[in-house]
Amino acid sequence: MASGEFILGIDLGTTNSLVGVVDSGFPILLADAEGSRSTPSAVAYGRDGTMAVGAAALRQRALDPARTVTSVKRLIGRRPGEGEWQPPYDLRALGVTPVEVSAEILKHLRAVAERAMEGPISRAVITVPAFFNDAQRNATKRAGELAGLSVERILAEPTAAALAYGLDKLEEHRKIAVFDLGGGTFDVSILEMRDGVFQVLATAGDTQLGGDDIDRLLARHVWESSPLGKETWFEQLPAEARVRLVAAAEEAKKKLSTDTHASIELPFLWQGQSLGVDLPRGVLEQIAAPWAERARQHCWRALTDARVKPGDLDEVLLVGGSTRMPLVRRIAQDIFGREPNVSQNPDEAIARGAVIQAGMLSGALRQVVLLDVTPLSLGIETFGGLMNVIIPRNTTIPGKAGEMFTNAVANQDSMLVRVLQGERELAKDNWELGRVDVPFPPGPKGSARVGVQFAIDANGILQVLARDTATNHDVVLEIQNTAIDVDDAKVEAMIAESVEHAFEDMNERIWTEAKLKAEELLPAVEEALAQLGAEVDPTEAARIRACAARVASLLQSERHDARALKEANAALDDATQSLAVLLMDKAMEEALTRKGLV
Ligand code: AMP
Repeated sequence: MASGEFILGIDLGTTNSLVGVVDSGFPILLADAEGSRSTPSAVAYGRDGTMAVGAAALRQRALDPARTVTSVKRLIGRRPGEGEWQPPYDLRALGVTPVEVSAEILKHLRAVAERAMEGPISRAVITVPAFFNDAQRNATKRAGELAGLSVERILAEPTAAALAYGLDKLEEHRKIAVFDLGGGTFDVSILEMRDGVFQVLATAGDTQLGGDDIDRLLARHVWESSPLGKETWFEQLPAEARVRLVAAAEEAKKKLSTDTHASIELPFLWQGQSLGVDLPRGVLEQIAAPWAERARQHCWRALTDARVKPGDLDEVLLVGGSTRMPLVRRIAQDIFGREPNVSQNPDEAIARGAVIQAGMLSGALRQVVLLDVTPLSLGIETFGGLMNVIIPRNTTIPGKAGEMFTNAVANQDSMLVRVLQGERELAKDNWELGRVDVPFPPGPKGSARVGVQFAIDANGILQVLARDTATNHDVVLEIQNTAIDVDDAKVEAMIAESVEHAFEDMNERIWTEAKLKAEELLPAVEEALAQLGAEVDPTEAARIRACAARVASLLQSERHDARALKEANAALDDATQSLAVLLMDKAMEEALTRKGLV
C-alpha cells in the first residue's frame, strides 16, 4: 500500500495524543523518533518565535509556563470566556486560537506518521468526546484541515473504544457503558448496537474532571502539609515551583496505582529549600474521593437518561489513563455492578479504535474484519447455457445487484430464470438453486426487457426478483439460506474445479459466444446476398461466400475451435461491410421512391 492511501486514526486527547494506521491488515500505533507512541498535547511558543510540540513543549513549560499551551481541547470550539476552566496562559497574548494550537499538534502527529510510513499522508479520522457539540466538532475538523489533513470522519470516543474492544460484532440491542477518565475530562456513555452501528443513548460527564485535577489537589496537599507550606499558600508559589510540584504529584499518583507507598523529593523547590514527603495510597484516595464521587453522579445520570439499568449492560469498558487508579476501578465496579473490562491498554484504546475505523474507511481492514461474504458467485443462466454472474463470490452481505435481460428469439413469451451458484463458466457445471418462469408479451427478438435483481440479506437468504418492465409484472423467488449455507469443503472443491477447468471453461464460453454470433450472421448474410442479387460485384460475392463457408464449416466441426470461429466471424463481418453500405443505399432509395422524391 502506498503511503498516500493510508488514513490516519488520531486520538486528539486533552493531555496526550496518539496516531496510527492499519498496516498490512494490522492496526498499529506509531512512535516518534524518540520511540514514544504518546505525544503530550502541548505546544510551546518561544519568545524568539520558535515553536515546540509534544514532549519538547512540556520541557519548556517549566521555564515559561505562560507560553506553553496545554489542555487546549478544553477550549476548542468555545467562545472566549465560555466554560469555567481558566488556563494558565493567555491565548490572545500569544496571538493564536485553540484551532491553530490543535492544528500544530495534528501536524506533529502527521509528521510522526509520515516518518514511520515513509511517505506523505493526507487523510485522517479524528476522535472527539461524545458530548462535543457541533461547534466543537467543526473546530476539530478545521484544525485537521489546517494541518493539511482531509478529515474523513469525526468519531465519538466511546464508539472508538468499543471498536478497539472488538465490540462492533455485538448482537443487535446489546448495550455497553464506556467510562472514560483521562487527564482533563471525564465522560461516560451508554451505547446500544442498532443496525450494526453503535448509537450513543446517553452521555454525561464533566469537561473539567480529570487526572490533572488530582495532580493539583495532591500537589496542594503535599505543599500545605509540609513545613514549607505553613506560611505560604500553594497558589502564592512562583509558577515554576508549582509546575515542578504538580509534575512530582502526578508521578507519585501513578506509582500509587500499583504501589501502596510513594515519596516526593524536590530539592531546592522554593527559596533554596527542599521538600520531601512520604505518601501512602490512602492519602491519595482520601483526596481523590470527592472527585471520584463526581464521576459516580455522572454515571447515574447517564444510566437514567438512557433508561438503562446497570444489569442491562453487557460490558463496561474503562478507558483513559486515570482508570488505572484502583479507587476509580472500585467505583466503576460499584456503580455498574460488574467487573469492568480492562483488557485493552486504557491510554491507547481510543486511538486504536480510530485506527480501526480509518482502516475500514480505506479498505485496509476489509481482509481481516470478519464480515460475512458470499462464498461462491451467484448468477443466472443466459442464452447458450452460459453462467452470467450477478453477485460475484466474496461480496460482503447484505448486498444487492441486478441486470437487464432480453429475449434472444422472436416471439418468445417467457424467460426461464435459472438461479445458479458456482464459479464455472457454463451453467451446467454450476449448482442450480431454483428456477422461475417470467412471462412477457411476445414480440420481435430483443423487444422484451426483464430486470433480474438478486438481494441477499444478512442471514444469507437470497431473494430473486424478476420484472417484465413492459407490464411491471414481478416474479419473486426466495431461496432460503442455500446461498451462503454451503459447507467449506464443497466451496473449496468448486473453486478448485473452476481453477482446474479455467482454460477449457473459458474456451467453452468463447465458443458459445462465437457460435451465437455465427448463427446470427450466416442467415443475415444469405438474406442480404439474395436481396441485393446482381447489385453485388461477383468477385465480392464469391469472397463473402467463402468467408461464410468457413464460418459454417467451423460451426459444424466437432473440435469447437473457439478462436478460429471468432476470427472467421470477424472476417465475415469485415467482408460484408460493403453489403451493409449497399443495403443502406437501397433502403434509402426505396424510401425516397415511395415518397415520390425520385
Ligand atoms: P489520557 O488523557 O487518557 O492520556 O490520561 C492521562 C491521565 O491519566 C493523566 O492525568 C495521567 O496522570 C493519568 N494516568 C496515567 N497513568 C496513570 C496511572 N498509572 N495511574 C493513575 N493515573 C494515571
